[in-house]
Amino acid sequence: MKRKTLLLINPANQLRSGFHINRATRNQPLSLGIIAALTPPGWKIKIIDENFKEFRYYEADLVGLTAFTSTAPRAYEIAAIYRKKGVKTIMGGIHASMVPDESMQFVDVVVQGEAEPVWGQVIADFESGNLKKLYKSQFSKEIHQPKPRRDLFHPGYICAGVQTTRGCPMNCSFCSVSAFNGQHYRFRPVEEILDELEEVPQKFVFFIDDNIIGQSRESKEHARQLFEGIIRRGIKKYWLSQSSINFADDGDLLKLAYRSGCRMIFLGIEAETEDQLKEANKKLNLSRGAGSYNKVFKSIQKHGIGVIAGLIFGWDSDTRETIRARARFALKCGADSFQTSVLTPLPGTQLFEKTVAEKRLLYSNFPNDWQRYDYFEPTIEHPAIPAEMLDGHISEAIRQIYSPLNIISRNLKTLWNTRSITATWILTLNYWYYRNIFINGRYVNSRIKHKPANNS
Ligand code: SF4
Repeated sequence: MKRKTLLLINPANQLRSGFHINRATRNQPLSLGIIAALTPPGWKIKIIDENFKEFRYYEADLVGLTAFTSTAPRAYEIAAIYRKKGVKTIMGGIHASMVPDESMQFVDVVVQGEAEPVWGQVIADFESGNLKKLYKSQFSKEIHQPKPRRDLFHPGYICAGVQTTRGCPMNCSFCSVSAFNGQHYRFRPVEEILDELEEVPQKFVFFIDDNIIGQSRESKEHARQLFEGIIRRGIKKYWLSQSSINFADDGDLLKLAYRSGCRMIFLGIEAETEDQLKEANKKLNLSRGAGSYNKVFKSIQKHGIGVIAGLIFGWDSDTRETIRARARFALKCGADSFQTSVLTPLPGTQLFEKTVAEKRLLYSNFPNDWQRYDYFEPTIEHPAIPAEMLDGHISEAIRQIYSPLNIISRNLKTLWNTRSITATWILTLNYWYYRNIFINGRYVNSRIKHKPANNS
């Protein structure tokens, strides 16, 4: 009997290149690798990954799509091609999970939430001709992921994605992690993660967790066991991840993090003043005060780990002056690198609810306008600054943060603070990658020309 084909698709934003602009900053479609691993052995599976290659039609019996909000329109566009031919389409991922009613108009089936508990049933129902419109999963306390089918990923990825925890109790106003992954830290068994790490071919690993050490005793203990396990098993990788500022609190944990390969950590700083931190509902940063940032960065750097600080522009309380002040803060706060974002109301966030209620969405021709919701342009009507002007102020701040002179001066400090190979990695990140993303990747159609999906 002919094997059935499951085609899995990772769509790319057709409007703007963003993080896609550099090969090194593209993220593997980990969820598709997990779906492939959960699919029974009788299926032939192929991944089309627009991070590397534009979609071209490929025969399939069943099509699965994942999407962020900004890539959802492209997912719908591709789904339409298959639906026209009578091929069933299934969509999961954060966007479909946050707005399932919208997604159900464009695909046959929506998987809302985590796929692991329901994917076996989806395939069984497809095979018996009983597919439902919606499969919804509950959060399980312990996460078990099969090893993703990394053999199906494009070989061009420099960094491998691995997940160790899910969920976050902090509920920041602009973030949909708590809605998507739950308000509690949930953990994968450490040995399961180590088994997976041993099979990762890349030297560089991105632990895609939203907070690798969390803020509870249990979550820190999980991180400690993970770092110790990496050292014990002799797994030689360099890794980066994301955390809150309490990453700096425990010197022993930082030593273990470095020894296990940590060379960079992303910290959600978001802003340097109380007004903006209140808007962000960034409780931990507020409780410690922006004055603590420099000490936080130094404590981490002295263990050889570089700090990437996340900064957001476009708060309601922002003015031209506060935006300029944030750029000045960036130049002297002591972080090694920055991810600069424009405040964006994504579905599933408190910010989205508020912006919709106040009728302040600048673009609402959905789903097409979702392409703009990628953190690179203002999508909220600001109370005091017209959008074009706001964009100009933000652009000016970003250019200052990423000017070659400021990058070099920052990097010399990184070399001094970390006295490790971290400085080379940070220089590459700042000069060749982030500078390109945050200056050039902001522009519409800078790399990708929008073309309708090719169905021939
Ligand atoms: S921004 Fe970070 S700390 Fe805040 S809710 Fe999201 S994951 Fe949690």
